[in-house]
Amino acid sequence: MVIINDGDGKGKTTAAIGQAIRSIGQGLRVKIIQLIKNGSSGEIKILQQLKIAVEQYGLGFTSKGDKSQHKISALKGVAAIKNSIDSGQFDMIICDEINYAVSGGLIEEKTVIDLIEQANRSNVHLILTGRGATDRMIESADIVTRMTKIKHAFDKGIKAQAGIEF
Ligand code: ATP
Ligand code: MG
Repeated sequence: MVIINDGDGKGKTTAAIGQAIRSIGQGLRVKIIQLIKNGSSGEIKILQQLKIAVEQYGLGFTSKGDKSQHKISALKGVAAIKNSIDSGQFDMIICDEINYAVSGGLIEEKTVIDLIEQANRSNVHLILTGRGATDRMIESADIVTRMTKIKHAFDKGIKAQAGIEF
C-alpha cells in the first residue's frame, strides 16, 4: 500500500504515527524517516523507547539557511529510504514530510515516483506525509487523505505547544 497524508490542516504526521503503532501491533517492522525536520517531537522519544527506528535528514525550516544544503540533506533522506526498502528489514516505511520536500523544490517528483515503484516491487508499505503531493504522486498511491484546515490556533497567534504540535 502507498498511503499519502496531504493537505494544509493538522494531522498528517500524527496520523502516520498512529498507523505505525497499529502496524507494529500486528508485527510489521516499521521505520520512520523524516525529511526537513530536525527537532525532537514527543513521539520520537516514545518510538525510540519501543526500539522503533527513527532517522532524521533535515536542517529545520527551509526558509532558513542555504537551499543547496537543504537539498543535500533531503537527498540523503531519499537514499536512506531506498536502502531501507532494499534491505528487506522493513514492512513499512514512513517518509515524513516528503511531499513538502517535493513541493518545496528540494527533491524531484520523479524521485518519489521511483521510490513508490521500488516499494511496490518489494511489497513494502510506504506512507508519504506533508503538504503538496503532486497529481502524479496521488495517482500512484492507493490511499490518499487530505487534511483540510478549518481553523488553526496558529492563525490567532498561538505558538506551537508541547504535546499538541511537537
Ligand atoms: P501533526 O504533526 O500535528 O500531525 P501535520 O503533520 O499535519 O501536523 P505539518 O504540516 O507537518 O503538520 O506542520 C508541522 C506543524 O505545524 C505541526 O506542529 C502542526 O500542528 C502545525 N500545523 C499544521 N497545520 C497548520 C496550519 N494550517 N497552520 C499552522 N500550523 C499548522
Ligand atoms: Mg507533519
